[in-house]
Formats: sequence, structure tokens, C-alpha cells
Amino acid sequence: MSFFDKLVGSAKEKCKKCGHEDTLSNLELHDYICSECGFYYRLDARARIKLTVDKNSFQELEKGLISKDFLNFPNYQEKLERTRKETEEEDAVVCGTATIADLNCAVFVMNSKFIMASMGSVVGEKITRLFEYATEHELPVIGFTASGGARMQEGVISLMQMAKVSGAVKNHSNAGLLYITVLTDPTTGGVTASFAMQGDIILAEPKALVGFAGRRVVEQTTKSQLPDNFQKAEFLLEHGFVDAIVPRPELRDTLAKLLEMHKREA
Ligand SMILES: [Zn+2]
Repeated sequence: MSFFDKLVGSAKEKCKKCGHEDTLSNLELHDYICSECGFYYRLDARARIKLTVDKNSFQELEKGLISKDFLNFPNYQEKLERTRKETEEEDAVVCGTATIADLNCAVFVMNSKFIMASMGSVVGEKITRLFEYATEHELPVIGFTASGGARMQEGVISLMQMAKVSGAVKNHSNAGLLYITVLTDPTTGGVTASFAMQGDIILAEPKALVGFAGRRVVEQTTKSQLPDNFQKAEFLLEHGFVDAIVPRPELRDTLAKLLEMHKREA
């Protein structure tokens, strides 16, 4: 059953932070923020698109790409098949064009519900193609990032995606086009180390975890005591990695304003 099928039956979701139960329709009404404690539910790609872009404006691009298990990694093929079925998605990113407040843009949304939005060959290829499309059609790109990092089941092919996407981002930038990233919880590993941090403007959702290596690894390597908010969006803002933290209910308007400000003269 997909997320939105469940909506029809007014199924309930339990807040991971405080345990409060909300109906899915109520959650959707409140941007998937817990009415009790303000916790931000993680969104799948379709829910994010629905919240962000003008109604019926989303046109999906780059469909039909599916990861191969070229390393014969134990259980990977089964995992891919199972996840495709559960999420009704082909892989961990959805790409397309849309309008926000009638302004054209290209959009990619990573989906943490698909193998923690790990970046494999398909994620890299789809985002690269989206940037190429956006460069050709002179469109700004808005990217919602979320990722557990590189997809280890695809080994070095997964790591190569960082360079490939970065090249396409650079060509888009050289064409004088705008790229906005919205860091959502959690954005980590190779995605942080490449296209998540290459936006001209970098926004983040409140309290989103954003980092490269995990907290424990950093603590053990540096043998230092890290602050409680280490790798949280607020910590990154203080240290200049993020331009603004935007509460979810204000995100759409903020993006619209930024698009308007950077609009190209026709
Ligand atoms: Zn809550």
C-alpha cells in the first residue's frame, strides 16, 4: 500500500519523537509536522513534490532506469525488488520539471524510504540527466537532498556518481543558472560531499542531520567531545555551511521568492 492509498483510509501515523498519533490526512494538512511536539516527519518524494510545486504542474523525467546488481552483492537484487514493490518507485530519486508560483524549474527529490536514499548508479545518472536537461532548457534546479550516503552494494560505481553529478552541476552553473539545494533529514556521506553542498543557495529544514561521516566516527577519530547539536542544520548555519533554515510551512514561498529574484529575462 502506498503512502497515499493509506490516506484514503485515514490511517494513523505515530510520531517517532513523542508517540502522538495523527491521521495521515491531518498530517498532510499540517505539512507532516507533529501537532503535539513539532517533529518533522520524513517525506517520501511524492509527498514532498505535492507540498512544494503547483498543483498538477509536475512532469516526471528520466523514468525507467533501474539499478543492476553488477557486483553480485549478497541479497542486493532481492532488496531492490522488495523496495521497488514497497515504495512503488524505481529508485531513490524522482526527477522532473514543475512550476512553483508559476515559475518554471527542474526538481529532484531524494526518497529516504528507498534504501535510505543511498546514491547508486541510477540516482547519479538521473540527477546528472536532470542537470543536463535544465542546462539545455535554461531552467533553475531545486534539489531536495536526503541520503545515507553512497550505496555500498554498488561499490566504486556508486562513488563515481559524485564526480559525474558534480560535472553536470558545474556545466549548469557555467551557463549562469541557479541551483538551490534543500537539505532534509538526513543528508550524509557522498551526497553531502558532492551535490548537496554545491547549491548556489543552500537551505535546510530545522534540525535536519547533515554531515559526512557519522557522529561516532568523528568522535573516535578526533577524540573530542562534540556539541549536542553537532551536524544539525542549526550548527551548520552557525558555521556558514547553510544559508538559511526554513520551516517547512514557509519553504514553498521561500523557493518562489528565490526563483522570482533570479528569474531570467525572457
Ligand atoms: Zn510528536
